[in-house]
Amino acid sequence: MTEPSTDFKSVGLSKPILDNLKSLGYLKMTPIQAEGLPIILGKRDFIGQANTGSGKTAAFALGILTKLDVAQTLPQALVLVPTRELAEQVANEIRRLARFTNNIKVLTISGGSEERHNIVSLKQGAHVVVGTPGRVMKMLKKNMLRTSELKVLVLDEADRLLEMGSVEEINAIAALTPSSRQTMLFSATFPNGIKTLSASLQDNALQVTIDSQHQNSTIEQLFFKVHEEKNDALLSVLAHYRPDSCLIFCNSREACNKVAGFLRTKKMDTLQIHSELDQQDRTLILIKFDNQTCRILVATDVASRGLDVKDVSAVINYDLPSDHELYIH
Ligand code: AMP
Repeated sequence: MTEPSTDFKSVGLSKPILDNLKSLGYLKMTPIQAEGLPIILGKRDFIGQANTGSGKTAAFALGILTKLDVAQTLPQALVLVPTRELAEQVANEIRRLARFTNNIKVLTISGGSEERHNIVSLKQGAHVVVGTPGRVMKMLKKNMLRTSELKVLVLDEADRLLEMGSVEEINAIAALTPSSRQTMLFSATFPNGIKTLSASLQDNALQVTIDSQHQNSTIEQLFFKVHEEKNDALLSVLAHYRPDSCLIFCNSREACNKVAGFLRTKKMDTLQIHSELDQQDRTLILIKFDNQTCRILVATDVASRGLDVKDVSAVINYDLPSDHELYIH
């Protein structure tokens, strides 16, 4: 099979969009864009299996932007995401990609923000709405959000949306949108719930899977023999390597809490995860770490069994792992 072109020109984007992509430094399409955009721009329903960092946001954002009628300030695209932070990130990426034209309004409405602010903004009108399912549903119930003109519905990080228990809201929201809409679903993993969701919301969707397995050769392993206080050594390692994101493993919940507490006293934004947290808290913490809202995560090695985090720059075993399988994981 021939590889798809990585040239943005090959998918038929307009000159102003192409010029803007160039000015943003997007010189070549990423794999999810090269394989996904021909389908997305062809208006087919789409399933993208891709991680954060793959360029998936631009893939669906370009799909949205090519379908907007700017003259109509009505919601024409709705993007559902699991968290407020992700809503902001997605909205910002859409705004950057929308710079080729004036007047495209992108709004976020998420849990945790003031409802009355959402209402004021919605009254002023928007072309694209990005939000969390609970808050979007609330605005729909209050008749503040109109979805009758919706052309595109996107579920971003659909596996996380399911983990957060949003499936009923998502189905209820989708039921209030035109059946002629294009529905795109992006997810890093594909548990059965995602297949069910796709079957209920999508029509003949085409799927693209981007394999993001890293090469073993890209992992450098270092061992530090520590004579001083281990916490001081940890600080020195973090200060020296300055990882963009760092996962720190400890052997017990107490150690995990202590190390995370210590790093916070040093003004390092740190979260901790262990088996005593409930599923929703774990999910929220992992999303924050995945999105790099928080760059340091301290975990017990037991909690690590179920961890699936992408793009970690550094892993520090603060304590020696209890078995080699855990270390490799
Ligand atoms: P995402 O996976 O959507 O979170 O995107 C990861 C990052 O890649 C974001 O900072 C985007 O701005 C950037 N990005 C997306 N597409 C491209 C591209 N074709 N060339 C360069 N950077 C890109």
